[in-house]
Amino acid sequence: MLVMTQRGLYCPAADVYVDPVRSVDRAIITHGHSDHARRGMRAYLCHHHTGPILRHRLGGSVQTQGIAYGESVVINGVTISLHPAGHILGSAQVRFEHRGEVWVVTGDYKRQPDPLAQAFEPVRCHTFITETTFGLPVYQWPSSDVATTAINTWWRANADAGLVSVIHAYSLGKAQRVLLGLDLGIGPATADGPVHDMHHMLRQAGHVLPPTPLFTGQHRAIVISSTGANSEIRRYRHRSAGVSGWNVTRGNGFVMSDHVDWPDLMRTIEETSCERVLATHGFSSIVVRHLRERGLQADELHDVVERSDA
Ligand SMILES: [Zn+2]
Repeated sequence: MLVMTQRGLYCPAADVYVDPVRSVDRAIITHGHSDHARRGMRAYLCHHHTGPILRHRLGGSVQTQGIAYGESVVINGVTISLHPAGHILGSAQVRFEHRGEVWVVTGDYKRQPDPLAQAFEPVRCHTFITETTFGLPVYQWPSSDVATTAINTWWRANADAGLVSVIHAYSLGKAQRVLLGLDLGIGPATADGPVHDMHHMLRQAGHVLPPTPLFTGQHRAIVISSTGANSEIRRYRHRSAGVSGWNVTRGNGFVMSDHVDWPDLMRTIEETSCERVLATHGFSSIVVRHLRERGLQADELHDVVERSDA
């Protein structure tokens, strides 16, 4: 049903690509991160929350068809539908059904709650194409509350010491997750330029977020910054930390990821009741070996895309 090509994951029967890396006529976009949503497609099919994100990132002239979760589109006899992936706002798994066979492509996903992303829903399928960015048993996320509490404790201590707190977070997804967990009794939440612009777009699209003015040295501020401690911030005494799943092993910040961890990956594969797993990104070879030892049919699906949002 789906094959990997130079342009990306392709469904020949429907003549459609998922998150293509080069120009194609018809693209299905799982979500608005830049390594999945690229310029140059003639038509974009995506969740209706992803449309404004694509226009913000790729330009207002981009032609998008937005559909709801669970809504179907039939192309050349292939029934295509989107289902919640829980990764970021509008993120979707893509389900393909053709002649009784069902394949599901997860895109990026997580099972932890996210204030802006609708919760992941397992979809029964024959073949499950799953991301395995963090497909090692060592990657197990603490609950979101643990990360949020740790960030607030750190922010309060910095503010009491007269230091600006800089949280380095991806502008779409992580930045809002951090923001919505902040205890605004500690001080003001502020943003760098890219995060400020992203929040302006999200508010215009109808999403409710606390105010995040540009950082200009506000007393006791935390800066949510996609660029880290940039030149404006470095004029002030500050402390910075990142939020990422990689901090499990790198340990220079807080552990919070928008990707699935090892226990949730294994649970999800079971919940799809799939016969075959195709693993893509990250530790796919480890995941494939583990699944095969458990008697499941599993293979790697090699992709050319580099990760930027882990
Ligand atoms: Zn992503």
